[in-house]
Amino acid sequence: MGRACSICVRPDRKAIDTDLVGGVPLRTIAKGRDITIGSLSRHRQRHVSPALAALVKAEAEDDHNLTLLARLERHMSTVDRLLAHAEAQGSLATALQAVREARSLIELVARMTGELDERPQTLVVNLASSAEWIETRSVILAALARHPAARADVVAALSGGAVADASPRVIEGRVVPS
Ligand SMILES: [Zn+2]
Repeated sequence: MGRACSICVRPDRKAIDTDLVGGVPLRTIAKGRDITIGSLSRHRQRHVSPALAALVKAEAEDDHNLTLLARLERHMSTVDRLLAHAEAQGSLATALQAVREARSLIELVARMTGELDERPQTLVVNLASSAEWIETRSVILAALARHPAARADVVAALSGGAVADASPRVIEGRVVPS
C-alpha cells in the first residue's frame, strides 16, 4: 500500500476496468497507454473486486442496449420520413413497405424496453387445435370403435359439449377462459 494506484487515478480507468473484466490481455490494454503490465496486474488484483466486475459488466450491457436502441430510433425516424414522402407522392406500395418496416421496428424497440410481454402468448395453448389433442382424440375414438353407444356419447360431448361448457380449463397451470 502507501503509494496511490496509477491506474485508479486515470481518466480512462472505466475503460481499463471494462477490458480487465472482459478478459482482454494485459499487454493489449497497456498498448498505446503509458502504463506497465505490472501496474495493471496490481490494479486488477487489488481494485477490481468481484462486485466491481459485476457492475462494470452490467454497465457495459446497458451501454450496448442503449446504443442499439439509439440506432433503432434513428432508423425509425428515417422510416417516418420515407413514409411521409411516399404518402405525399401517392406511392401506395412504398408507403405500405414503410409501414411494415415501422411496425417491426416498433416491436423490436418495445421488446428491448420491456414494454412488450410475450409470455402470455407462448403459455396459452389452444387445446382444440393442438397436435397432441388431435392425436389423443383419434386414439380415444379408435378405442371406442367396438362400443358404438359410448363412442356416440363421446363424439357428442366433444363436438357440442366443449363449446357449451363455460367452465375454465387449466392448461399448463394457467386458467384459460373458454
Ligand atoms: Zn487501482
